[in-house]
Amino acid sequence: MARKTPIARYRNIGICAHVDAGKTTTTERVLFYTGLSHKIGEVHDGAATTDWMAQEQERGITITSAAVTTFWSGMGQQFDEHRINIIDTPGHVDFTIEVERSLRVLDGAIVVLCGSSGVQPQTETVWRQANKYEVPRMVFVNKMDRTGADYVRVVEQLRERLGANAVPLQMTIGSEEDFKGVVDLIKMQAIIWNEDDRGMTFEYQDIPADLQDTCDEMREYLVEAAAEADDDLMNKYLEGEELGEDDIKAALRKRTLANEIVPVLGGSAFKNKGVQAVLDAVIDYLPAPTEVKAIEGVLEDGETHDTREADDNAPFAALAFKIATDPFVGTLTFFRVYSGKLATGDTVLNPVKGKKERIGRMVQMHANDRQEIKEVLAGDIAAGIGFKDVTTGDTLCAPNSVITLERMEFPEPVIHVAVEPRSKADQEKMGMALGKLAQEDPSFRVRTDEETGQTIIGGMGELHLDIIVDRMRREFGVDANIGKPQVAYRERIQNTCEIEGKFVRQSGGRGQYGHVWIRFEPAEDDTAEGLEFVNEIVGGSVPKEYIPA
Ligand code: GDP
Repeated sequence: MARKTPIARYRNIGICAHVDAGKTTTTERVLFYTGLSHKIGEVHDGAATTDWMAQEQERGITITSAAVTTFWSGMGQQFDEHRINIIDTPGHVDFTIEVERSLRVLDGAIVVLCGSSGVQPQTETVWRQANKYEVPRMVFVNKMDRTGADYVRVVEQLRERLGANAVPLQMTIGSEEDFKGVVDLIKMQAIIWNEDDRGMTFEYQDIPADLQDTCDEMREYLVEAAAEADDDLMNKYLEGEELGEDDIKAALRKRTLANEIVPVLGGSAFKNKGVQAVLDAVIDYLPAPTEVKAIEGVLEDGETHDTREADDNAPFAALAFKIATDPFVGTLTFFRVYSGKLATGDTVLNPVKGKKERIGRMVQMHANDRQEIKEVLAGDIAAGIGFKDVTTGDTLCAPNSVITLERMEFPEPVIHVAVEPRSKADQEKMGMALGKLAQEDPSFRVRTDEETGQTIIGGMGELHLDIIVDRMRREFGVDANIGKPQVAYRERIQNTCEIEGKFVRQSGGRGQYGHVWIRFEPAEDDTAEGLEFVNEIVGGSVPKEYIPA
């Protein structure tokens, strides 16, 4: 089968944000404008298709990292059709691990900020993670219709708090109640979206007189940022030559891909203003799969090899990045293809587990439906149905051309609690449910405490474990209570030791069979720094080296 969309017209992107900044609404509008979603539903009323699980909608948190495929051909300009895969990333801090694994498989990101709250703590976390993976990104300053919204202030925060070289491509027109649209600083024209058709159409207008000076200044900044892309442009710029729209865009693209600048746009997803311009910018400034750093793999002979091939006949290599349970089809294993192709009926090798998997069915998610597909190619994201032994981070490759892609790192759980079913009869069912959930979520652990027989679960935060318990009830019909791990016999322990260069005092109880339940506190002479440990490591599972002799 021939490739429908050339790989240069793929965009694998994530939409990252602090909780409530409007990621879900923005994603939903993206699906609406790209024509595949037929209804603009209010977020969390059950219509948001990237929020799969009922409880995500109730809690307003996106936990799963579903990938949705959609197509875009441009708003102000017409492009050849581009294929955009949106990898959903959660915003809550308990799930930074989910953000991290999404960042690993995407090529570019849109960071959504709230126009009035601006840069928030989780934005900083996401930003750091994106820096780590060198993900080119742009910013959408959303909620410009909200009280207190201030686009220019948010741009300053990007520079000051995140150290980003933020280059606004737009200036916003009005704010709060009076938010009307944006000025395109490249075209130097105002874009006013029509409210009547939910922003499906728009008009170019003259820049409002009171914004002219500001826009002139901002354009100057933008053109200079573009000129810095190379000496030729800089010389032209310094000689006072006018740079053309295409030159400016190409230069900004080059610098965005090199992570030297961050384009900034503004709007209000909720009020249907600005989202199509964001999509245009995704095409203009975010990378195709072939434009980002190759991902490294290890060959059978131990040699390293870079994988990110545009050639469809290259050996197949993909990374499994998400396991989800679907009520209709069972286990879905989402994977990102880095090179080669794969068709149903083929067999792949999972070199991490040393096992082969036969590819039965594959699906791709769209806004309102899922599509069975027969073949995937480099750049694609798809989900395999019924893979047996694949866990998050595993490689899938051609059996005759073995490669193991860089593994993802998952942090150890930071809290542990005991969990028990309300009804004893559910014990076995609970074990199964927890096993299944642990398979999906690499930062969630389950074990049975040898002395007390209690089931202990570990995760990235209280909310993480609450959600696990909630999912057990909804998806597996097991009602369970969370409690403290028991300690059969207590013996006071006092000890001072050094952990990661900080002196902390450990106190707590030692169980009957040497099980240790420890609370870390700063030693008297320590500074407040030691306090971190009080909240972070309070639990039954403490690494051996931390246990006093
Ligand atoms: P997420 O947590 O980042 O996914 O944020 P949501 O998309 O769920 O939005 C959080 C809340 O903000 C919801 O009540 C949305 O209706 C609202 N919201 C989203 N975008 C906008 C916007 O542009 N303007 C206003 N006023 N509210 C918005």
